[in-house]
Amino acid sequence: MNLDELIRYTFLDLAFLILLVSLAIRIGLFFYSFIKSAAEKDRPLKYLLAALSRLFFPLYGSVSKRPVYTILRYLFHICLIVVPIWYSGHIILWQAYGIDWEWTALPDEWIDALTLIGLGFALCFFVRRIVINDIRTCSTKSDYVLIVVTALPFLTGYALSQGSAEGIPFLDTHMEAIHILTAEAMLVMAAFLFLKVKIKADRCVGCISCTLMCPTDAVVPEEIAKQRTIHYMQCLCIYCANCIRTCPEDAVQMSHELGVLRFFKMISKRSLICVELAACDCCGRFFAPISQLEKLQKTYPGNHINICTICRKRNSARKILKWE
Ligand code: SF4
Ligand code: SF4
Repeated sequence: MNLDELIRYTFLDLAFLILLVSLAIRIGLFFYSFIKSAAEKDRPLKYLLAALSRLFFPLYGSVSKRPVYTILRYLFHICLIVVPIWYSGHIILWQAYGIDWEWTALPDEWIDALTLIGLGFALCFFVRRIVINDIRTCSTKSDYVLIVVTALPFLTGYALSQGSAEGIPFLDTHMEAIHILTAEAMLVMAAFLFLKVKIKADRCVGCISCTLMCPTDAVVPEEIAKQRTIHYMQCLCIYCANCIRTCPEDAVQMSHELGVLRFFKMISKRSLICVELAACDCCGRFFAPISQLEKLQKTYPGNHINICTICRKRNSARKILKWE
C-alpha cells in the first residue's frame, strides 16, 4: 500500500471509526446517566423526551443573552455541515467509497460562498478570543487549536477547487493529500472534543439558580455543614446554556477541552465551586451563602438580612399575634 492509499482510505476509515465510537460512547453514557437520575427522582418519560429534544438545539438558552454570537455560531456550524455533504466533488467520492446513496449537490458557487463565509466566521472567532479581554482570560489552548483545525480543511479545499496552489512547489502536487489529511485531523479532533461548563469563582455568589434551571441535573448543589458545593457531571450536560442564561452574576461560562482522558472525567462528578454559608442570627441554621448576603446587604442595609426564611415567617407571625 502506498502513501496515497494510506491517506485516502486507511486514515479516513480510522478517522470515521474513531468519531463513530466516540459518539456512541457519549450517547450511551448520556442515556445511562440520565435514565438513572430520572429514575432516582421519579421523573416521567416526557421529561426525558423534552430534555433530549434540546440536544438538537444546543446553546438555545444563550440566545437571549448573546444573540448575535449565538446566531453566528449556528450559521458557522451549518456551513461546517453543508459544505462537505453537498459539495459535488465529495458526493462522487462518497460513491467511490461504497456509499450507495445519491443526493443532489449544491451548485459549486454556493459551496464556494459558504466556504468563504465559514472561513470568515472562523477568523472572527479567533480574533474575538485574542482581542476581547474577558474571553481571552477564560480561553484555553484547545479553543484556539479547535478553530485552526476546523478551518484548515475548508481553506485547503477552497485552494484545491480554485487551483490556488498551482505553480507553488510541493503544494502544487500535494494539495489534495493535505486537504484529506486536514479533514481527517478535524474528524479525530471532533472525537476528542468536549465542551464543559465552568463557574468563575470571583463572580459566583452560590445562589444555585443555575442548578434549578438545569434540565438534566448536570449541575447539582450539595450542602454539608456550612459548605455549599456545586457539582458538575459532564456526561449529563446537553450544552443547552440554561445555566449561562439564568446566572444573575454572569459567572457561568463554557469552554472547550481536547483529550483522550476527558472520556473518563465525563462520568466523574467535578466540583465547580464551593461557598461558605452564613448561620441564621435567630436559629443558627446555615441558610444562605455569605457572598450572596454581603451583596444583598449593600442594597438592603440593616441586620434583618441574616435571618433565615423560617425564622422570618415565625417572627412575623409572632408580631401579628401580639398585635391581635
Ligand atoms: S449544565 Fe448548563 S448547559 Fe449543561 S445541561 Fe445543565 S443547564 Fe444545560
Ligand atoms: S454560577 Fe451563577 S447561578 Fe450558579 S450559583 Fe453561582 S451565581 Fe448562582
